[in-house]
Amino acid sequence: MSEKFDVIVIGAGPAGYVAAIRCAQLGFNTACVDKWEDKDGKPSLGGTCLNVGCIPSKALLDSSEKVEQAEHEFEAHGISVGNVNVDVPKMIARKNDIVGNLTKGIAGLFKANKVTAIHGHGKLLKGKQVEVTSKEGTATYSADNIILACGSEPINIPVAPVDNNLIVDNAGALDIDDVPKRLGVIGAGVIGLELGSVWNRLGSEVTILEAMDAFLAPVDKQLSREAERTFVKGQGLDIKLGALVTGSKTAKKSVKVTYTFKGEEHTETFDKLIVAVGRKANTKDIAAEDVGLVIDERGRIDVDNQLRTNIAGVYAIGDAVKGPMLAHKGSEEGVAVAEIIAGQQPHVNHDTVPWVIYTHPEIAWVGINEEQAKEQGLNYKTGFFPFAANGRSLAMNEKGGRVKMIADADTDRVLGVHILGPNASELISEAVLAMEYSASTEDIARTIHAHPTLSEALHEAALSVDGRALHKVN
Ligand code: FAD
Ligand code: NAD
Repeated sequence: MSEKFDVIVIGAGPAGYVAAIRCAQLGFNTACVDKWEDKDGKPSLGGTCLNVGCIPSKALLDSSEKVEQAEHEFEAHGISVGNVNVDVPKMIARKNDIVGNLTKGIAGLFKANKVTAIHGHGKLLKGKQVEVTSKEGTATYSADNIILACGSEPINIPVAPVDNNLIVDNAGALDIDDVPKRLGVIGAGVIGLELGSVWNRLGSEVTILEAMDAFLAPVDKQLSREAERTFVKGQGLDIKLGALVTGSKTAKKSVKVTYTFKGEEHTETFDKLIVAVGRKANTKDIAAEDVGLVIDERGRIDVDNQLRTNIAGVYAIGDAVKGPMLAHKGSEEGVAVAEIIAGQQPHVNHDTVPWVIYTHPEIAWVGINEEQAKEQGLNYKTGFFPFAANGRSLAMNEKGGRVKMIADADTDRVLGVHILGPNASELISEAVLAMEYSASTEDIARTIHAHPTLSEALHEAALSVDGRALHKVN
């Protein structure tokens, strides 16, 4: 007889571990199967996000931002620090400590919530059984409900095969222990810009080769144009749009990349090359063939709006299913599925999932942008406010960026908020909350914002929708 649980979750990333904790809170006897191992071969919970994603990348972004400030920004405050020395191995060790603390923290949360952690590769079998394979062998468990949260993995391109030595993926890019003089990045998406920024701040000459002609296509054009100017002119990132990589050749210590740009063949030699061209659902061997689990045309587990797969009692969440590949989206789906299993009626509002790109300045948005409002033929109005007119921003010596708000012209309901500026990642929460409550720009305009704060830029952008911003000419 196989051990029986009420719920088995496969995958302990931010989607799976949160689902497991919520299931346990709701009184279900829950197990969570995960196969991630750290460099010493020990189980490490938290998935991509904690091990090689959100957290380690932000740790390095923060460290490198401090270097940037010491080298270029302190002076404006009247502070001189002389030569700034960077100990990259120490920086990486700090990042690893944070990862270690947080992944152990999940193990602690599992223990406290009585979630059984099972290490190994989980595979869905017929009859709601899960086969787990590890170094110890194979065991089979069963459950009334199963949640698949197997996440995603980097996309590889044959023209630049990752060896995690000279050509690295996002995981390898977080473990470079010496500043490469010349760093190439393929893909000017979220990872390319965040990790490109890290190494640029630490002294690499960074060239980013992006296949598309548009820069940051999902971002509102007014903001993406200003961001591009800042990254290229202000920070020295060499971003080549419309660059098609045709091949790469590694030597002992360098990699030669050939690409087509503006109709001509180019060759550049880098000391490291980061491949960041997107991620794909990681559904390899997640279910036995005879289970008949339906995978959609993009390789993701097919789910309905209640995150149910085609197999009764089997759900899927996070990066493995449709929607943006973001940790908080997966976590929210994890909570929702646990509550659905408990017979509750939760709702994940996919229209209010915030996005953040942790460059400097940060870029954050929620809802639709102006181009989408146009495409959808909406009757809309916009307002904006520049951080250059915000007292707190100037006190911080932050002069660029803006808040842009898009609202329905008839009802005044907020349709989208876009922020390029300091602490955009924190500021966006107000906009998410406003949209979650179906607020109008008038609601935001009539809400008292503390002075002096960056949030006043949101207040002013809301006022500006109605042509009555107070600290700029409308
Ligand atoms: P994952 O985190 O991928 O976790 C899936 C887990 O399941 C893994 O542990 C995997 O080993 C395990 N698994 C898979 N198959 C099996 C199996 N068959 N049996 C057992 N275990 C299995 N998102 C943000 O919101 N904010 C950010 O700042 C951010 N930064 C990022 C930076 C980088 C460099 C990267 C790569 C990603 C970043 N992301 C960020 C995206 C975020 O990491 C993902 O959206 C998130 O981790 C997805 O969560 P998940 O639980 O669906 O999957
Ligand atoms: P991405 O989709 O953000 O960007 C990939 C970029 O690579 C795109 O601009 C694409 O046009 C380009 N590209 C694709 N193929 C190419 C090729 N052959 N040559 C040159 N360019 C090519 O993907 P990513 O940066 O790899 O990140 C993956 C996902 O991880 C993100 O979409 C996001 O969901 C998540 N993530 C989120 C955060 C965050 O929330 N701050 C940070 C990192 C990653």
